[in-house]
Amino acid sequence: MGSEQNPLLVSKIGIIGAGISGIAAAKELRAYKPFVFEATDSIGGVWKHCSYNSTKLQSLRCDYEFSDYPWPERDNMNFPSHLEILEYLHSYANHFDVMKLIHFNTKVVEIRLVRDRETIDYGTLLPGQPVWKVAVKTNQSETLEWYAFEFLVICIGKYGDIPKMPEFPQNKGPEVFKGKVMHSLEYCKLDKEAATELVRGKKAIVVGYKKSGIDLAMECAEANQGPEGQPCTMVKYAVSKFVESYLTWKLPLDKYGLRPEHPFLEDYASCQMAILPENFFEEADKGTIRFKRAFKWWFWDGGIEFEDNTKLEADIVFLSTGFDGKKKLKTILPEPFRSLLEYPSGLMPLYRATIHPLIPNMAFVGYIESVANLHSAELRCKWLSGLMDGLFKLPSVEKMLEDTTKEIKVMKSTTRFYKRHCISTYSINHDDEICEDMGWASWRKKSWIAELFSPYTSQDYEEHK
Ligand SMILES: Cc1cc2nc3c(=O)[nH]c(=O)nc-3n(C[C@H](O)[C@H](O)[C@H](O)COP(=O)(O)OP(=O)(O)OC[C@H]3O[C@@H](n4cnc5c(N)ncnc54)[C@H](O)[C@@H]3O)c2cc1C
Repeated sequence: MGSEQNPLLVSKIGIIGAGISGIAAAKELRAYKPFVFEATDSIGGVWKHCSYNSTKLQSLRCDYEFSDYPWPERDNMNFPSHLEILEYLHSYANHFDVMKLIHFNTKVVEIRLVRDRETIDYGTLLPGQPVWKVAVKTNQSETLEWYAFEFLVICIGKYGDIPKMPEFPQNKGPEVFKGKVMHSLEYCKLDKEAATELVRGKKAIVVGYKKSGIDLAMECAEANQGPEGQPCTMVKYAVSKFVESYLTWKLPLDKYGLRPEHPFLEDYASCQMAILPENFFEEADKGTIRFKRAFKWWFWDGGIEFEDNTKLEADIVFLSTGFDGKKKLKTILPEPFRSLLEYPSGLMPLYRATIHPLIPNMAFVGYIESVANLHSAELRCKWLSGLMDGLFKLPSVEKMLEDTTKEIKVMKSTTRFYKRHCISTYSINHDDEICEDMGWASWRKKSWIAELFSPYTSQDYEEHK
């Protein structure tokens, strides 16, 4: 067993996390036999641990697909369920024989630099001696196991694991409420029967306006059909970013006070679009789903109260208030790197959306978002593999900082909601740069006509095109 003084040397490259980012990294770097740590007993990340029974992909299969591993029914226009996504991911991992690289129930709890920071050459990614050591907690033992690596790929995801909880004035938090309060992460753990049982016949409130809130309200409505059914009220407590992805003229947004207060493009530019479940507005018409707009809210013993002095009664309040991905990352990274995560602008500066210019021998996959997250992660893993193989080199730290600072400026100018690292409005440019680094043609179609008229999909990024 590896101790802190004598960590195990099992591979040059360590990968942390086995969601789509981690399995894509393992597949692309498999020549190096990377050692993959996965905290849970399964691959798939959010699709396994952060999905409701009704969660579906918001993209079509062909837009959420590995470039060299098509979905079995890729032209099926139905959005696949989270279980179908898991099946696809398992099939991919088995096909490329990456399961053997993954070590389940191994949670990385701490990362430390092995060497003196001043002596590290940031440009040498595999220097022949360990740069990082990681402490791992397993199910079998209370004692931490230590491993050392020359390079680490961080794929722990931005969602799940750590819920983001709202803050309340004194004596107005969940402790004063007589009913039940549950974060959506906890609700994800329930099977269909338990979830239905929990909400059937109960007055529910869902606080949150994004996809997880919308789906949760829909599940509450479905469990509350018939005369015994109780309504579920969705509370949108911030500027509405609701359903702009649907054409406003087609939907009864005004009727339900849901017309967005900002242009559609801003949501697209901040990757905040949500696809509504079928029958959502039918449930609203029936009154099983209701809406309340509010900027401030807090608990009273019977439910929640708003700044306009109105009160809503509830048996159960769901907090669909998101996750703290930054905290998850900060918990394992050591200082001074932890403090550098948001340098210089509040957003994580990542060169080619993968390398933090000031953190040596480490890559981050799954931290930028686009309208096709799987493709973004996979292409960056291919790029990383080219980098490891020495096909091209990283520019200087100064150049990487200059590039990332410029990119963040552009991101901020396209949307007020720039807190997510979202490249949706310029992902093609991003992909072009990645292709050029790898020595690939950035025009990836077979003909001019196709280049002009057919949309890009992940299959256009299969190797050797
Ligand atoms: C409900 C929901 C719906 C979504 N829908 C879409 C969609 O329709 N389209 C789209 O493009 N994107 C969607 N996304 C975004 C989604 O997060 C990405 O598409 C993608 O699945 C993220 O994969 P990942 O591997 O980067 O992270 P994750 O899936 O979060 O995987 C991270 C993995 O790391 C493991 N891990 C975490 N910490 C540690 C540790 N310390 N040690 C070891 N292992 C660790 C976790 O257990 C997990 O398995 C959705 C997200 C959610 C939550």
